[in-house]
Amino acid sequence: MAQQAEEVRPARTGPFRRVLLKLSGEALSGQRDYGIDQERVEALAAEIADVHSGGLELALVVGGGNIMRGMDAAAAGMDRATADYAGMLASVLNSLTVQDALERRGAQTRIQSAISVAEVAEPYIRRRAVRHLEKGRIVIFAAGTGNPFFTTDTAAALRALEIGGQAILMAKNEVDGVYDGDPKTDPEATFLPELTHLEAIERGLKVMDTTALSLCMDNSLPIYVFALTDGNIRRITAGERVGTIISTPETGATA
Ligand code: UDP
Repeated sequence: MAQQAEEVRPARTGPFRRVLLKLSGEALSGQRDYGIDQERVEALAAEIADVHSGGLELALVVGGGNIMRGMDAAAAGMDRATADYAGMLASVLNSLTVQDALERRGAQTRIQSAISVAEVAEPYIRRRAVRHLEKGRIVIFAAGTGNPFFTTDTAAALRALEIGGQAILMAKNEVDGVYDGDPKTDPEATFLPELTHLEAIERGLKVMDTTALSLCMDNSLPIYVFALTDGNIRRITAGERVGTIISTPETGATA
């Protein structure tokens, strides 16, 4: 890795100082059914680097579902835990791809992995991750939580809380927010601009898995769900109202 001079960062003006952006593996595969669409990665990296250069402290959690999904492999006969570890390694592959594209655009980055891959990434160390963010580096959290039977959505919730992130930005590949049904198959499905974490859990809405949602609910961490189309990350971090916001009012509506 090339030595980089420490950057002087501009003062942040938007609504967030520090956020965590969750990129699913599918976000990197674009129109392809599988693997990585390099053009998509380049466009995504350009937008992320641009947003970051405005002074935002930014952490990423990168999924692996474009390469390996533990549950699917287990359904096809593979041992579940082994398949899940393979899924975590897929997240490491994707993280390296995103890191490379970001650094070519001048962003300083560090990958921290939840499973040991010492030649390509630092181990996950919370205090060190926070220090990287303070120094203006984008921190990419790879390999999910490091545990089988979890998902990178749960890792996003966990890491966002650990680093004191103000929100999770969930960039979705094919939908522009949360609906009360599947808009791809149900023409009656209605868009929900706002809802609480509890509503999302109780109604079984496909936002994140329930482990991740309940972690966010218990810790009042808002989730912004939006389409990964050009400019949306920039718009949300600038304070524009885009997609669905999932939050729980401070008054303790979940008690
Ligand atoms: N995975 C896991 N533990 C984690 C995170 C991920 O076992 O903490 C495995 C799991 O098999 C999952 C795969 O890695 O299916 C890829 O992650 P995920 O499905 O969350 O990726 P995404 O849907 O975001 O692309």
